[in-house]
Amino acid sequence: MFFSEIKNFIQEKNYPEFQLKAVFFDMDGVLLDSMENHAKAWVRTMNDLSIPFTIEEAYMNEGRVGHDTINSAYMRAFGRVATVEEQESIYEIKTQHLETLGPILAMPRSTELLNKIKQQELAIYLVTGSGQPTLINSLDDYFPDIFVKDRMVTAFDVKRGKPSPEPYLKALNKSGLKPWEVVVIENAPLGVESSVAAGLFTIAVNTGPLDPEVLSANGANVVLIRGMQELFEKWDDFYACSVLVTH
Ligand code: CA
Repeated sequence: MFFSEIKNFIQEKNYPEFQLKAVFFDMDGVLLDSMENHAKAWVRTMNDLSIPFTIEEAYMNEGRVGHDTINSAYMRAFGRVATVEEQESIYEIKTQHLETLGPILAMPRSTELLNKIKQQELAIYLVTGSGQPTLINSLDDYFPDIFVKDRMVTAFDVKRGKPSPEPYLKALNKSGLKPWEVVVIENAPLGVESSVAAGLFTIAVNTGPLDPEVLSANGANVVLIRGMQELFEKWDDFYACSVLVTH
């Protein structure tokens, strides 16, 4: 199923070929089953401040760095963006709520998939809008010997977060690879938008409550409606197609 999508992608972009060398993973909602907790933490934080904010909104904002989510809620509630101090204190409250919401598990099949990709000798990168040190620093506990610091782009590394292409362009730059040598695994509409704007082949795994149509509408090259389980089942097919596709 992937061959025609890859072929269309390189023709549309006028890339010379597709030859997979690295996989760029988003974190929340892809590797970690964390989005329900993040969404609840955002709603509780905004409710504390009497700012209207829904679970669905949290999912629609997914992928943004924290201060962008805070600013858009502030604009709507107060007609202005939050000050830096407000952004910091609100993000701190969100972090505290997140920590009281209980443990976050790895997404089903994520460990098996990462190990398989490592065996295939593809480089593995993390590209996340998260600024939660607890989660980022514990990646090695979830997935031992997979992630290394110089193959990570987090909220601390970018000026403009997703949906800007900057996080994915930064990862591409770190990797020294061409845009036709990389696949991105994303789950959120704004994450897909960011990856597509960076010119990268994007597989969207639908792991949350949103309509998967949103992911196609934002430009995902492939949408897998059964999430990481489906990606794991189909990975070998994708890998076989992605070794070398030319015009
Ligand atoms: Ca995500």
